[in-house]
Amino acid sequence: MEFLQNLKKSNTLRILFFGIATVAVLALTLLNVYSLYQLRNTSIESATDVKKLQIEEFANTIQYHFYGSVWDLRKLDMSTVEAGWNNNQTFPYQFLDVLRQASQDPLYSDIHFIYKDRDGCVNPDEPVYHYDETTQRFSATDDVPQLVCDGFGISKSRARAIVDEYRFNIRTTFDSHRSLTIALVNLSDNSVVGHLNLLINRDYLINDYIAEEMKKTFGDADDSGIVVWLRDWIQDDILLSSDENYSYNRELYPIDIRQRFSDSLDDWNLHATILESPTIAASDASLMRNLIVLGVSVFVLLGALIFIFINAQRERELAERQAGFLANITHELKTPLAVMQAAGENLSDGRVRDEKRLKSYGDHIYNESVRLKRMIEKLLDAAKVDSGQLSTQQAPHFLHELTSEFIEANRGYIEGKGFTLTFSHDKNLPLVMVDPDHIETMLNNFVENAIKYSVDEKEIHIEVKKSGNYVSLSVADKGTGIPKQSMRYIFDKFYRVEDSLTAKTKGHGLGLSIVKNMVEMNGGRIDVKSEYGKGSVFTVKFPTLLPSETDDPSEPSAAKTEQTNRSLNTEKIGPYVQ
Ligand code: ADP
Repeated sequence: MEFLQNLKKSNTLRILFFGIATVAVLALTLLNVYSLYQLRNTSIESATDVKKLQIEEFANTIQYHFYGSVWDLRKLDMSTVEAGWNNNQTFPYQFLDVLRQASQDPLYSDIHFIYKDRDGCVNPDEPVYHYDETTQRFSATDDVPQLVCDGFGISKSRARAIVDEYRFNIRTTFDSHRSLTIALVNLSDNSVVGHLNLLINRDYLINDYIAEEMKKTFGDADDSGIVVWLRDWIQDDILLSSDENYSYNRELYPIDIRQRFSDSLDDWNLHATILESPTIAASDASLMRNLIVLGVSVFVLLGALIFIFINAQRERELAERQAGFLANITHELKTPLAVMQAAGENLSDGRVRDEKRLKSYGDHIYNESVRLKRMIEKLLDAAKVDSGQLSTQQAPHFLHELTSEFIEANRGYIEGKGFTLTFSHDKNLPLVMVDPDHIETMLNNFVENAIKYSVDEKEIHIEVKKSGNYVSLSVADKGTGIPKQSMRYIFDKFYRVEDSLTAKTKGHGLGLSIVKNMVEMNGGRIDVKSEYGKGSVFTVKFPTLLPSETDDPSEPSAAKTEQTNRSLNTEKIGPYVQ
């Protein structure tokens, strides 16, 4: 009892540990998968961040170029510039130098100037001056493009707003990609000296300058892993692409990065898509590799866990059955011994003289000793199977002959139990290599079971026939049959079906496991077909030694059937005594 309780306790513990181990493995797996994804995303994100920085830098490079040729204006004192203009409508030579540079820059086309707020665009009486590249002088003009007037307009209103507190001598204002207007600030009295407008050469800007910079920076998309487009977002127009092989198609290439130009080119921006860059491809490949390794490891680990668990479960069942078996067998060994002891005592003290009673005591002792011997033989067989000491003495035999011998020897006993025994076999059966003692043990067990597990219909049919390259021997009964769920266990050691009839019947669940071992040792196979409540057929088959003789066509191929209902042979004690 205590042993069984311990078993139950350790089983609960085992299930608990199995549960914990499974949960731990699954949790670790999830954690790992999560970390792997995080790792991959982080490396992709950092690769994306690098690209973002690259695009931001590119936008800045484009913008800074606008200032290149006019940068030196910052060094000038605008009061001198103003004095020069007032003097003879010309500028100091440093100023003119800057203008010469700007006029040579293909980025700019015309340069215009208005003095103070006197804007010819607004007031026709006021002049607008145009810079002449060759003479390096300004002269008043009436032909002022609208773009220039727009530039002056924006610059004037911006300068007006900030001039009082402004600390720099120039204030640049972009009219998007059209023009750059510079307000010249006299810092001595915080006044605006005038506005200088530089018209931007759009074609050069797009097709020469930005296009070239784009190629230089991003180049072939398959190498750089990125495609950048210059887009006029007001007109919804793509002006340039860093790689002409990639068309602007948001469905094909979703936009990953959007970048504006901070203080110029207001109506343009940059759109970029990140292609499967080597970094992303490497991250994905590494993720895939890690996931596969992880998956396989988890699979193996869980497999091992389940295997260990199932094995432990089996061992527990075996231990339980073994414990039950020990209790049973002790009782069953004691009973015949007690009967024999009592009968022996009665005989030895000479009190029994009556012949009939003497015979009855003798019968008792004989029967019980045979039963004991059978039981011990079975135990020894089981022990031999366990220790691998079961040996075979195989020799060529006709299976139907061995079966016939068995039937002759045991018919009396079987029929004495109220059974009808029929036997049929094919003609010209080939020889098989078997151990005759083993065949006898098999038949003994099958018949013994058929007797034990038949209640109403007491019929046993034994059949030997050829089936392919085998000769098969089957024992069929019309007994209780075996429930479907028990079928795969009945050859296990100590296994007994859990039903009321089995509970009432003596047995230890050893017979079929011994039989199975013997069948395998003889190179055969064992099979059972059974329907619960209708009966069972146990079949063993062994490979033929030589090809069978050809059937005699004059003989009917049907099996020759012996069927007998002989009277009970009471003198012989059969091998099925329990
Ligand atoms: P046992 O000593 O219990 O008969 P076996 O190993 O011979 O042990 O059989 C194992 C179990 O298989 C039996 O307990 C019984 O439940 C079932 N069994 C075996 N043969 C038959 C049969 N012919 N009909 C019904 N059940 C059977």
